[in-house]
Amino acid sequence: MRILQLYDKPEPTISFEFFPPKSAEAEATLFTETVPSLQELGPSFISVTYGAGGGTRATTLRVVDRIRKQFGIEAMAHLTCVGSTRDMLAAVLDEAHSLGIENILALRGDPPKGATTFHMTEGGFGHANELVAFVKSQGRFGVGAACYPEGHVECSDKKLDWDRAAAKVDAGAEFLISQLFYDHRDFLEMEDYLRNNRKVTVPIVPGVLPFLTAEQIKRFTALCGAKLADGLKKKLEALAHDDEAVRRLGVEVCSDICRKLLDHGVPGIHFYCLNRVPSCREIVNNLGLAST
Ligand SMILES: Cc1cc2nc3c(=O)[nH]c(=O)nc-3n(C[C@H](O)[C@H](O)[C@H](O)COP(=O)(O)OP(=O)(O)OC[C@H]3O[C@@H](n4cnc5c(N)ncnc54)[C@H](O)[C@@H]3O)c2cc1C
Repeated sequence: MRILQLYDKPEPTISFEFFPPKSAEAEATLFTETVPSLQELGPSFISVTYGAGGGTRATTLRVVDRIRKQFGIEAMAHLTCVGSTRDMLAAVLDEAHSLGIENILALRGDPPKGATTFHMTEGGFGHANELVAFVKSQGRFGVGAACYPEGHVECSDKKLDWDRAAAKVDAGAEFLISQLFYDHRDFLEMEDYLRNNRKVTVPIVPGVLPFLTAEQIKRFTALCGAKLADGLKKKLEALAHDDEAVRRLGVEVCSDICRKLLDHGVPGIHFYCLNRVPSCREIVNNLGLAST
């Protein structure tokens, strides 16, 4: 089923994002523990990231395929421009299509490990809007793209970056999923700009990352340029020695953000679950969204 149809439903569309497991053991855990636990929460779909440089291509497609066929949960493959020519990207899309995969999240991608800046591959694409148009032109997939409530880290003007999110919609993106953020007003400001200044009508979905540890959340927010309010930073510092307390704080903070945004009318929540279930389960339960 196309993801766009899932966002058409009246109830909030809850989705979870995985990264491809890095070992056979991790893959076994994903399918024997993680996916079955998340299945109890009644996800609308699961998405699987695509590693920098395309190194996870086979795993990404295999995991998406298994989630769809073994668990009957819709799943979407991420795809990036990093290190790929058009022909290489076309081959990934052919493989995805042959497996019956129907949805692609089209991204430029982060620079591969060791590199600090993105370089366009000769014969490939320099920006996500080009990949969106390429995937869309095939007519075989539902296509989504990324957006950034605080602006993308490489772009000094957040409104210019939001214009570029609108360009991805113009190129064919049927929905936008946001980068993580910890002040719901940043999401609302971006959404208002896209809706009112750029007349974007597609679903715009908040991406939410529960906390694992204080160090992890500081690193992730620094990497993607998301801010942590001073009060939240202080709380994290005070609890830094206690991972479980940090995790619980994340459940509280993320439940509050999700509640405010669902009350506002967002079509769903996309959880960056990092292949872990407990915090997502608690947030979904706090919001009264679990299907069982
Ligand atoms: C929901 C979500 C899922 C993600 N999944 C993955 C994943 O699976 N694998 C992975 O490697 N990364 C992933 N990322 C990270 C993403 O690849 C990075 O944030 C990357 O740096 C930008 O990708 P993009 O698709 O937003 O690129 P773009 O939209 O191309 O934007 C990149 C930069 O270029 C600028 N820009 C955009 N279009 C133009 C244009 N036409 N002309 C000039 N400048 C332009 C933007 O303002 C921005 O600064 C994900 C991000 C999100 C939010």
